[in-house]
This record gives sequence, structure tokens and C-alpha cells, in this order.
Amino acid sequence: MPDRIHLPDPVRHIVEEIESEIGDEPGGHGPRAAIEGHHGAADRSNDRVETAVREILTEIGEDPDRQGLIGTPDRVHRMYAELTAGYHVDPDRLVNGAVFDVDYSEMVVVKDIPFYSLCEHHLLPFFGSAAVAYIPKGRVIGLSKIPRIVEMYGRRLQVQERLTQQVAAFLMDRLEPQGVGVVVEATHLCAVMRGIRKPGTVMTTSAVLGLFRTRDRTRAEFFAHLERPAPRA
Ligand SMILES: [Zn+2]
Repeated sequence: MPDRIHLPDPVRHIVEEIESEIGDEPGGHGPRAAIEGHHGAADRSNDRVETAVREILTEIGEDPDRQGLIGTPDRVHRMYAELTAGYHVDPDRLVNGAVFDVDYSEMVVVKDIPFYSLCEHHLLPFFGSAAVAYIPKGRVIGLSKIPRIVEMYGRRLQVQERLTQQVAAFLMDRLEPQGVGVVVEATHLCAVMRGIRKPGTVMTTSAVLGLFRTRDRTRAEFFAHLERPAPRA
């Protein structure tokens, strides 16, 4: 993990927001507002990304010096730094202080967690929602942390299968619960835009550990939760 002192400001801002507790506003504006609202300079320690983006523009037959494209290499550089800020999140800081001893051993389910990620094969977005469930064994984690865990792994180059497994493994490792289940549904622009799959096709992946893997009843309860629409607040 690179030293965070050297991270560009917008990226450090996102990293710190994922790690820290900032009022749980519904709809969570934090990190995304940071991207849209911030126009600070990217890390100027090198301009290799800018050079590479100019190469791409030239290679596809564009003129990187025309007005609309002149700022594109710089924007792309900043954008990738922000969209991959998850590499810099310190999991210990994320979890910090939010694991509680609780005598509760029923299933905890957090669903409809929106996320955005980048497919590592094409560097195009895939996005959708995640559902995360676990059955505690004496320890629970603050609910607001679960979407941050998804975001920590989402803001990287990913494949959906690995994202799903990493979220499950993280909770298994940190909480040592009786089991974890994660289901991720996503649309991949690399597939949709290129017409490989029908538009609107959603890919579903799941990871089940512990009781979610070994006990049919637990898995069935989890999937039943996913089918129920969330109650309106
Ligand atoms: Zn792809």
C-alpha cells in the first residue's frame, strides 16, 4: 500500500471517508460527492497516465490537442485514481471501533447496497447492488460499515466473482461469525455496450461461507430475505 501522504487530495479524501464514520445519511453522498465536487489537481509526481491517454487518443484516430480533449488525459488520470481509491483503504481503520460483543445469533442482512467497480479486463464499469448477510458468533459489526467494505473492494480493478468473495472473506476474517453470505448483482458495460450479452443482462454471483455453505436452511433463509422487497422507511 503506497504511503497515503503521497495520495492526491481527492483520493485521500475518498479513502478517509470509507474508513471513517461520517453520519449515515440515507443515499450516502460522501465519496461520490467528493468526486464530483472536487477539481483539485491530480498527483503531479508523474504524468505517465496523461502520456498514455494521449497515446490512446492518437491511436484511435483522435486529435488529443483539440479543444474537447485537451484536458482529457488529466481528467482520466484523476478519475482512475479516485475509482481505484479502494486500494489505499486500511481495513483496520475501516473496522476500527465498530465491532461489538453482542449476544445475538440470528441472521443479519444488509441488502440493496449500491456499488460501482471497474472490470479489470476492459477498465469499464460494472455496477449494481450487493446483499451481505452473516450469523454472528458473539460479535457484530456496525451496519454502516458493511457498505464501506463493499466500497473498499469495489473501488479497484475487479472481477465480480472476486469482489463477492473478498467481501465475504473479510467479514469471515474480522468477525469470525457462524457464516457469511454475499450476493452481488451487476451490469457490466463491457458486455452490454459491446453487445455480447443482451442489454440489461444482469450477472449474479454469490459467496457462501460457514453455515451458509453447510446448512441448506440457512442458505434458504438468506435467499428468502433477498426476494422480499425492503420495507419503506
Ligand atoms: Zn470486462
